[in-house]
Amino acid sequence: MPDTLIDKPVSVAPWEVAPPTEFVSDGAPTIGAEPVPACPVCECERFAQHATGFDYELRSCRNTWRFVRCAACSHVWLNPRPAISTLGTIYPPHYYAYHYTEKVSPIALKAKNWLDGRKFAGLVRALGRSPRSFADIGCGDGRYLRFAERAGVPKDRDYGLELDEKVVAKLRAQGYVGVCERVEDCTAIPDRSLDLATMFHVIEHVDDPKAVVRRVSRWLAPGGVFAVETPNIESLDARLFGRTYWGGYHIPRHWNMFSPGTLRRLLEDAGLEVIGTRYQTGHSFWMYSMHHVTRYHGASRPAVSRMFDPFGGWPSLPALLAFTALDKVRAAAGAKTSSMLMLARRAD
Ligand SMILES: [Zn+2]
Repeated sequence: MPDTLIDKPVSVAPWEVAPPTEFVSDGAPTIGAEPVPACPVCECERFAQHATGFDYELRSCRNTWRFVRCAACSHVWLNPRPAISTLGTIYPPHYYAYHYTEKVSPIALKAKNWLDGRKFAGLVRALGRSPRSFADIGCGDGRYLRFAERAGVPKDRDYGLELDEKVVAKLRAQGYVGVCERVEDCTAIPDRSLDLATMFHVIEHVDDPKAVVRRVSRWLAPGGVFAVETPNIESLDARLFGRTYWGGYHIPRHWNMFSPGTLRRLLEDAGLEVIGTRYQTGHSFWMYSMHHVTRYHGASRPAVSRMFDPFGGWPSLPALLAFTALDKVRAAAGAKTSSMLMLARRAD
């Protein structure tokens, strides 16, 4: 065998560092990754490193992941990112979003339902008329489809998009239009037909946010409103923990991290007019940030980190209440928290 092959070094990207020891003792694999050379918002190919980190939440893989910042529009995206073939690894069956209702207490679920109902009512007020059609992209158990139904949307124009067949089958059994397709491939919704479309904490997970927003814009009826909720990379906690531990990164499942400026640009480039931005509490990002710092920075303190696990039950309740109160106060005082809800309207 030629020497060149024997001596060939294992290729290591310049940003790669050794993972925290737990990743190694867990036997987390190194998974396939693919480069994303151009900015998903403005297509510029010049960027600088913004942050690096690991899958601190699930330890699904031991890769060092890197976020880069666009030199032209300052958008931040994961580059490289997990190969499509690895999605089953980074979204394992125990991924919490699939089991949300089992993992939180009934009281927390009731509180969330009440808050989400208020959020939906606010969107209807921004629309300025009774919605006659609605789509929730990434609709989960269909909570928002039920709010829309109560607001007068007929079930045959109440669309829920979700990528899990079982979830979609349940929605269909309840009479809603369940669609098991990616937005970009979805043909179930007629153009210029939707009064209201919502996308809560989904845009940061998709590979081509531009194509997604353009498609939703096409579905909107004249005067229709699109509401997008996503982490805000310019928030206080994003700045404090942004080097690696910020909970909003959700490494490596968040592929695009927006600021109010880059999200506005994405919506305007799709022909929409931004009509308002509301800042929600980002308590789970604060908690995950604290969790990751106490667990992985220096000596691991698992007992302390459990007090900051958003799904940690009673031990983490004081932190949950404290960070929720903190962001409520900050948002009321005009601060831009780490969870932004931007509303955009289609003019004609
Ligand atoms: Zn850019």
